[in-house]
Amino acid sequence: MLKCIDVLALGSVYVDGALTPAERRSLRLHMLVCRHCRRYLRSLQLTRATIAVLPVPATEQTVEQVLSAIPPTE
Ligand SMILES: [Zn+2]
Repeated sequence: MLKCIDVLALGSVYVDGALTPAERRSLRLHMLVCRHCRRYLRSLQLTRATIAVLPVPATEQTVEQVLSAIPPTE
């Protein structure tokens, strides 16, 4: 069975859905008995979902427009 440190290493791969079936089974088995890792993976999933709905970064042109609108100091 996986240890908590193994779950830390595989967590982001798990939420990306990129684990092998055997790794996924081992991780899920660990989650059945470890509430700490369940919380950890839930927080990773929430973080991933939040990032997915954030707007795309500003373009370089938008950054230049905003910077040029700032009055110079002195
Ligand atoms: Zn654990």
